[in-house]
Amino acid sequence: MAKAANSRIMCDLDWNKPGRQVSVLRVPQSRDDAGWGTVEIPIMVTAGSEARGKGPTVLFTGGVHGDEYEGQIAISRLARSLDPRRLKGRVIMIPAVDLPAALAGRRLCPLDNRDLNRCFPGDPRGTFCQMLAHYIDSVILPMVDVSVDVHSAGHSADSALSTNMHHRADATTMKRTLALAAAFGAPYNVVFWGVDEGATLTSSVERRQILSIGTELGGYGRVSVDGVRVAERGLANVLKHLGMIAGKPETAQADGAAGTRHMMVRDNVAYTFCPAEGLFEPRHTAGTSVKKGATAGLVHFVEDPSREPIELKYRQSGVLWMAMGPGRCRKGDTLAVVMRDYEGG
Ligand code: CA
Repeated sequence: MAKAANSRIMCDLDWNKPGRQVSVLRVPQSRDDAGWGTVEIPIMVTAGSEARGKGPTVLFTGGVHGDEYEGQIAISRLARSLDPRRLKGRVIMIPAVDLPAALAGRRLCPLDNRDLNRCFPGDPRGTFCQMLAHYIDSVILPMVDVSVDVHSAGHSADSALSTNMHHRADATTMKRTLALAAAFGAPYNVVFWGVDEGATLTSSVERRQILSIGTELGGYGRVSVDGVRVAERGLANVLKHLGMIAGKPETAQADGAAGTRHMMVRDNVAYTFCPAEGLFEPRHTAGTSVKKGATAGLVHFVEDPSREPIELKYRQSGVLWMAMGPGRCRKGDTLAVVMRDYEGG
């Protein structure tokens, strides 16, 4: 049984075996009624035979946040359908990484009330999410060449259908990452500057020099019809782009565009923050073109209906990437994120 020297998580996969394997990451979880209980997180590995030639190892993750469903569906479907006889290289698929959160339809893990995506690089003696983050970082990531972490915006927001990536100082890495995102073929790709706090899966992936993209493919705690379609096509496109399955990436967009529109979120002015606790009335849906100075929404005070609502404005022109719709909002919350066209650099 394969087990990292200092991890409590067990997994009986033979990582180097050709063919299709279905297993679980077995995470200890002591309960009142099961002192030696474990939580089983499904993991699938499909690998081509050596005869097909060597290829890269790709990691597809969904459900890092349990209330983001498109990746859970698309990766599960790919895991059932991917044919090892037609595959070059290896694909590791974890459709619902934070399984307890996925089963509860929540962002945070109900076992320790943590956001798994704020627990990296983890702790082998920590809570459920910390143990899981540590296993992924120390056992799985060292095998991985390319990582696609499929997110959407969860209950509190909706997103324009997009991939995203951090701006990387190294020009070659930057070029390869932009090409990977373009091959995925979402309507938008968003380049971020320095907003990562170092505790996400993506930050662990990047520390290990792994080629990395993420996605935002819907939200509001629902399943986006278009988001699932973009996710499924995108995962297959990545495998085509890397030469792991036959075919060319399909990147035609619903609006007639030939491919992905590259965007960026570079400055603080991309964000509109909440000035006071209240009820947020947004004015636009994700993917809408918006102008600097236009009304982003109103914060209402239903406990004092005679008080005028506070008007919030966009601080730059562009396309609404993240449209928050949490209902109740608190001072300091992000209520809108506007992306603008990528200018290189
Ligand atoms: Ca997310």
